[in-house]
Amino acid sequence: KNFEDCGFPVPLMNAIAKQGYEKPTTIQCQALPIVLSGRDIIGIAKTGSGKTAAFVLPMIVHIMDQPELQKEEGPIGVICAPTRELAHQIYLEAKKFAKPYNLQVAAVYGGVSKFEQFKELKSGCEIVVATPGRLIDLLKMKALKMFRATYLVLDEADRMFDLGFEPQIRSIVGQIRPDRQTLLFSATMPCKVERLAREILTDPIRVTV
Ligand code: AMP
Repeated sequence: KNFEDCGFPVPLMNAIAKQGYEKPTTIQCQALPIVLSGRDIIGIAKTGSGKTAAFVLPMIVHIMDQPELQKEEGPIGVICAPTRELAHQIYLEAKKFAKPYNLQVAAVYGGVSKFEQFKELKSGCEIVVATPGRLIDLLKMKALKMFRATYLVLDEADRMFDLGFEPQIRSIVGQIRPDRQTLLFSATMPCKVERLAREILTDPIRVTV
């Protein structure tokens, strides 16, 4: 399998080549066609599998496919991750593929100035990568609107549950329109994560690597 098979536009193919990604990883081979078709997905995969690109690349396509949405404000892609380290890594990966399209990526997580992040969000973004607690704080401060969000990723869902973020995740999901596309990635699928998946995903396809 090749990235060419995914039908990615040329600027995205060039960005993939620039990263030195020659062939899709196993999770990418499995997940990319499903996510690109617009379906919800449960991806059971660990860090190191290439799961980040598996949700970032289709997110760019999703955003570029919605010209009418580009007039509104607020993120179109929302990615939740358990820790600031992971959120930062996802942010870096998203930036690489957002760059050819001039899409703005914002990263918001605890431990750094809320005011700076407030300003960053207010200046506009198409993609936000966030830890759940900080995203809730910024939503309460009305730093961003979720009207436009149609692509939601929950990354390392099991770790977010371990860290006690279930209420925050439920609150965030509740603020995003139900006709969104939802992607849930997790290394393991404990009962609580299964239950959330059943509640917030629509007819998902499950892939395991
Ligand atoms: P992840 O599991 O998303 O954290 O990715 C693990 C590492 O694999 C990161 O350094 C990525 O840049 C890299 N990577 C992701 N996809 C590919 C690919 N198709 N070919 C080579 N490296 C990749």
